[in-house]
Amino acid sequence: SASIFAAVEMAPRDPILGLNESFAADARSEKVNLGVGVYYDDNGKIPLLAAVRTAEKARLEAAPARGYQPIEGPAAYNGAVQNLLFGTDSALLADGKVVTAQALGGTGALKIGADYIRRLLPGATVYISDPSWENHRALFEAAGFPVENYPYYEAGTRGVNFAGMKARLDTLQPGSVVVLHACCHNPTGADLSDAQWNEVVEVCRARGLVPFLDMAYQGFADGIEPDAVAVRAFSASGLQFFISSSFSKSFSLYGERVGALSIVTAGKDESARVLSQLKRVIRTNYSNPPTHGGAIVAAVLNSAELRQMWEDELGGMRDRIRAMRTGLVEQLKAEGVAQDFSFVVKQRGMFSYTGLSAAQVESLKSDFGIYAVSTGRICLAALNSKNIGYVAKAIAQVVKA
Ligand code: PLP
Repeated sequence: SASIFAAVEMAPRDPILGLNESFAADARSEKVNLGVGVYYDDNGKIPLLAAVRTAEKARLEAAPARGYQPIEGPAAYNGAVQNLLFGTDSALLADGKVVTAQALGGTGALKIGADYIRRLLPGATVYISDPSWENHRALFEAAGFPVENYPYYEAGTRGVNFAGMKARLDTLQPGSVVVLHACCHNPTGADLSDAQWNEVVEVCRARGLVPFLDMAYQGFADGIEPDAVAVRAFSASGLQFFISSSFSKSFSLYGERVGALSIVTAGKDESARVLSQLKRVIRTNYSNPPTHGGAIVAAVLNSAELRQMWEDELGGMRDRIRAMRTGLVEQLKAEGVAQDFSFVVKQRGMFSYTGLSAAQVESLKSDFGIYAVSTGRICLAALNSKNIGYVAKAIAQVVKA
């Protein structure tokens, strides 16, 4: 009899993973992969932070047993997450208005949040920025929601079309879910100003929208505190909202899958009921989160010494990305490029929408072995002191051609 899989079709390849495969197969020694979504150090390697290494060594020596964790993860981890997002002096935390559950990276946090909102508001539509991280649409659709875009990036100014964004949000049905990149917008690098965040808060309040902040890069723009501006604006509003957060980038712990979902409620009693429902979602997905990554992050954040070490290392990553931004702009100028690339310095986080066309991206690949996403998104953290000159020369050639 025929296999039950006989008629299964091949799913489309993930465009970025496909890019990585082509890059790996490229024999040119000078090749550079700017398509990645991770931070590389100046040697082109994913760093293992000293703070992480120190905490791991202590954990190995303590040799803890590996019992199950609570469904929502341990209090030491969830409390540390809350302090980073809301600040240690947060009234919301003091009032018991925040529910946090450890999750499998930022993606896992989005997924348990999506599954929970689907139960809470089954008729809701989810709105994501145009463009957005490519997994947002797929993830919320997989959770059963219709997903639509709100205007965000404006190619002409290489910034945010804030009037368009606000006008669209102002037309949404009450109970619509609005996914907002809290900082370091992926893929464009264009963020809202502090004043614009306050306006978004007011639209969400006026329309009865459900904000879902995605915080995947806290500490990559200006620092832990300043990068929490969106969280703080919503916290001050008295609204209920969701936050997915991730330590993949800020701790360079991609493969350990460490993130969290936080939900702000109207009070302690609501928090208890919401947590009980969230636990059902988690229990029926993966039961409870893994131990190692969360234990390392909690150990670092809950030790004054390791926390300082981590903040210094995070600052180092941030400064290096910034140096690559200014370096690239200066070297393009030095190569005689007339086009103004100064926007690259203003964009925030790991990425830049360079404005390079798909054809220019294609020439970078075929003529120089430099790989980027066809939208023109490049990862600044893939540049380093050895390859930046080569990349600048190559971009100069394709934009002058
Ligand atoms: N959200 C955004 C905007 C991202 O850019 C990413 C990672 O690239 C994630 C979520 C997912 O992070 P994680 O790797 O922790 O699942």
